[in-house]
Amino acid sequence: MSELHSIGWYSSQITPRLPKQVFKPVPQRLWGGLVYMLLTIAGIWAIAAHQFSPWVNLAIALGLGQTMAGLGFLGHEVLHGTVVKTAWLRDLIGCICFAQFNLGAKLWRKWHNMEHHAHTQDEDTDPDAWATMEKLYKRPLLRWIYKLPPGFRAFFNFASFSLFFSIHSSLMFKRYIGEFKPRDRAMVWMQLLVPWAIWLSLLALIGPGKWLFAYVIPVMIANALVIGYISTNHQLNPLTPVNDPLANSLSVTVPRWVDMLHFNFSYHTEHHLYPGVNAKYGPMIKAVVKEMWPEQYFELPLLQALKALWKTPRIYHNYTDLVDPGNGHVFGSLGHGLDAEQFAYRQIDVPKQGPAPMGLGTLEQSPAQGD
Ligand SMILES: [Zn+2]
Repeated sequence: MSELHSIGWYSSQITPRLPKQVFKPVPQRLWGGLVYMLLTIAGIWAIAAHQFSPWVNLAIALGLGQTMAGLGFLGHEVLHGTVVKTAWLRDLIGCICFAQFNLGAKLWRKWHNMEHHAHTQDEDTDPDAWATMEKLYKRPLLRWIYKLPPGFRAFFNFASFSLFFSIHSSLMFKRYIGEFKPRDRAMVWMQLLVPWAIWLSLLALIGPGKWLFAYVIPVMIANALVIGYISTNHQLNPLTPVNDPLANSLSVTVPRWVDMLHFNFSYHTEHHLYPGVNAKYGPMIKAVVKEMWPEQYFELPLLQALKALWKTPRIYHNYTDLVDPGNGHVFGSLGHGLDAEQFAYRQIDVPKQGPAPMGLGTLEQSPAQGD
């Protein structure tokens, strides 16, 4: 593994090259949110108030999926404090933007800002990092999934994108609710229950047939869109003992109009270098990073990154390699031999029974080390 550096090390070199304005919040981002919010309300109202054919309802549901995903991308940057600074307003807007996922601002800031950003790709402390072999052996469902043929499993994985963000949010609630101070816990519960109350009231009001098109299908599309990005953020990268965004994050590229619709969420390495800077400035940070560390910076077109996810397993064999426990195929990660065109692998023997056959080892023991 080439030498790893901390976020502070990078920012000490990048910051002098950025204009001061990038560190200011960008409240103008809320105009896009307002448009998405009005379109969401209009779409739900259109389904509720009319007797459209299922095809018309489906077309509206597809649009709602996009507006709900767009609100989610905005909620992410709002809750990093890069849009408004006032804490209560930041949390209120964040809750509105994440209401479709029944995800509250307090839980998100704990899970995402405090845990994921601070411990990115640490196998124990990053709540979003994928399992190592040791963890696989302790998780029966995951073991079962990895007994499926690779193509079928990839299909299963991609199909789960339509639910994954909502399910992961519920798991994060369970994981972190006990860590909130007792006086904050009621608010965390409220931020979960109020959105549910809204969606269930809507169900009572319009009935299950219309609710399917006004909420269920849109939120599944929104899940698929946000997970379509999130799954590419780190899952092709190595685990890293130092939180080095160039090593452990991937930026994807999409057409400019898609970036506009999705609030520049594609600039993910830039976001991990500067989570407190609005994504509007992603292209500016990218230009500096690509000039300074062209060899270390990873970017792939979004569809190519998704293809790489389809073709490779998600279980870490060691820091830098991914293994399919079902057939013993070992693939490199980004910067460590991952071949995003051919998907070449080597073969190892994986014991069928636990306990885990190997730990992560050290970086020096990693077979892919040295590139
Ligand atoms: Zn973030």
